[in-house]
Amino acid sequence: RSKSIGKNTIQFYQDFMRKDMLRRLSIESHLRNALKKNIFTLHYQPQICLKTGTIRAFEALIRWTDEELGMISPSEFIPVAESAGLIVPLGEWILKEACKEAKRLNSGQNKILMSVNISAVQLKQLDFVDLVKNTLKETGLKPELLELEVTETTLISSFETTISMFEELRKIGVKISLDDFGTGYSSLSYLKKLPIDTLKIDKSFIKDLDKECIEKEITESIVALVHKLNIEVIAEGVENGKQLAYLMQCNCDNIQGFLISKPVPAISAKELLNKNYMAYIGVQVS
Ligand code: C2E
Ligand code: MG
Ligand code: MG
Ligand code: MG
Repeated sequence: RSKSIGKNTIQFYQDFMRKDMLRRLSIESHLRNALKKNIFTLHYQPQICLKTGTIRAFEALIRWTDEELGMISPSEFIPVAESAGLIVPLGEWILKEACKEAKRLNSGQNKILMSVNISAVQLKQLDFVDLVKNTLKETGLKPELLELEVTETTLISSFETTISMFEELRKIGVKISLDDFGTGYSSLSYLKKLPIDTLKIDKSFIKDLDKECIEKEITESIVALVHKLNIEVIAEGVENGKQLAYLMQCNCDNIQGFLISKPVPAISAKELLNKNYMAYIGVQVS
């Protein structure tokens, strides 16, 4: 009997692996088509400064609805794009589109940053810094208005090269933001070696902030430490007023999350600029 259970388990596992592989292959071939046809869009999610109640930045987040496969989450297709080498051309399009949109959103007096997610594979391209410089030139966006979001995994393989790239970009005014902090290495000792401007505390830490738990102490300590290093903090995935109240108590600089807005198309992003979040934040806290 136990033999047959073992066999079933293996069968189940093999079926699962096969389905998973077929799905990835299917996504890869549809991605190639989507790239040719250029049917991607970007949505934008605001980051709110808690001191001023204004929008500090929009994060650009890619969206893809395939004719056959339907809507596919970037958490599913970005890794496929990375392993298939498609993230390089796709990433170029994302960067340019986001810079163009930033230029439109900043017509007039605005000084709203555009945050763009950059994959580790893109950073391995030796001409990445040139790509950024050229894109800024072509779109006419001021370098000070561009922020690049990278995760800790980008640093694992070629620490020194990546660091010098960041330094070169920061020299012209581009900001570097460390995304999903708390999910990777998260060594506090190497934080001070990193030439970054901004740190985003991962949403998995924010999730339980409204309860009594260790995440609270962790968040408070991260904010305090990061401030000592002159780095700005953003809390991701803020969904309710309790989390916000606690983050304000911790002296967190900025928040991003469904509480304020989900990622929205460019047209709606422009409308968000007219909102006053101060009153909103005030109401949430009291
Ligand atoms: P990320 O860069 O950490 O982006 C934040 C994710 O959290 C987004 O998911 C966003 O929609 C979601 N989010 C925002 N507020 C909340 C909230 O209050 N609660 C919850 N539960 N989620 C919230 P999305 O758009 O599905 O993207 C997932 C991941 O895919 C991103 O994580 C990023 O790693 C990757 N990604 C998305 N767009 C791009 C892109 O243009 N380029 C690259 N390289 N990666 C991208
Ligand atoms: Mg991000
Ligand atoms: Mg993140
Ligand atoms: Mg992420």
